[in-house]
Amino acid sequence: SADKEKMSSVAKIKVVVRKRPLNKKEIAKKEEDIITIDSGSSSLTVHEMKLKVDLTEYLEKHEFVFDAVLDEDVSNDEVYRETVEPIVPAIFQCTKATCFAYGQTGSGKTYTMQPLPLKACQDILRLMHHTYRYQGFQLYVSFFEIYGGKLFDLLNDRRKLCMREDGKQQVCIVGLQEFRVSNVDSIRELIEKGNATRSTGTTGANEESSRSHAILQLAIKRSVVGRESKPARIVGKLSFIDLAGSERGADTTDNDKQTRIEGAEINKSLLALKECIRALDNDQVHIPFRGSKLTEVLRDSFVGDSRTVMISCISPNSGSCEHTLNTLRYADRVK
Ligand code: ADP
Ligand code: MG
Repeated sequence: SADKEKMSSVAKIKVVVRKRPLNKKEIAKKEEDIITIDSGSSSLTVHEMKLKVDLTEYLEKHEFVFDAVLDEDVSNDEVYRETVEPIVPAIFQCTKATCFAYGQTGSGKTYTMQPLPLKACQDILRLMHHTYRYQGFQLYVSFFEIYGGKLFDLLNDRRKLCMREDGKQQVCIVGLQEFRVSNVDSIRELIEKGNATRSTGTTGANEESSRSHAILQLAIKRSVVGRESKPARIVGKLSFIDLAGSERGADTTDNDKQTRIEGAEINKSLLALKECIRALDNDQVHIPFRGSKLTEVLRDSFVGDSRTVMISCISPNSGSCEHTLNTLRYADRVK
């Protein structure tokens, strides 16, 4: 029963904010850190500098409270313990869990997200080798991105993919490569390969990764003992999503047509995501996942007994104030 209690104490939706330190460039520009954090009360204050009509400056404070607020000195290990670690055991119990990193470009989404699947794999493999030994569980990894509303396989030279529903409301991404992993080194290699494919892309510009959602999925499968020849069935899934830069959703008035189209798609997907998470939290029967490619792909993670962790990443510098407030307001709506 202690185990049961532990499981039910894991919230369905958890919203965590992570602040990164000021970087060298910001320090050189003498930018100020406008975020103060009180981790004891999980609250955070943005000190916004404003101008009166007579051009004198004054401060406006905006306070927010979240499930956890992680200051700039918090390590990636601690981020894992606070966010993903508590939901790992549930994916052996038919649960779908999703961890998102949200925020403007440069706020630390990729820095935060990259180590998480690896740490989760370590824990999953440990559970498979000890607690669930000889029970036929297998771990699979896939990694793809959504760019301009289209899907590309990051573990197969960015091959274009398409999505299909199988009639049982299961999402199927046709042609997506899935790799079975049984040790941490092989998963590390796959993650590195996928990340390299993502950032070099077709143009080689880093710019590109801020316009795509990267989705790494860990699937726990199980074959029936004695019927190993039959395909293993998916038991649980854990998805890690490094979202497109939140400011990109505002690129809808850009001079470049392609940029505008991509901006509109990003805007649509981030709005749809917020609506889906809210619907999930309210135990709504109808989940509006059809609103975008991102939410359609995640459809099976939004139904039934699912868990969601949103990590909102924020930059501390005064120049990012507006984006930071937008990120915190988005996180506040999800909560
Ligand atoms: P994003 O993916 O949101 O565009 P990145 O993860 O690439 O942002 O982070 C931008 C830069 O800031 C990178 O150089 C990264 O190493 C650094 N950075 C981000 N978060 C932290 C942190 N918590 N501590 C130290 N450096 C960080
Ligand atoms: Mg990034």
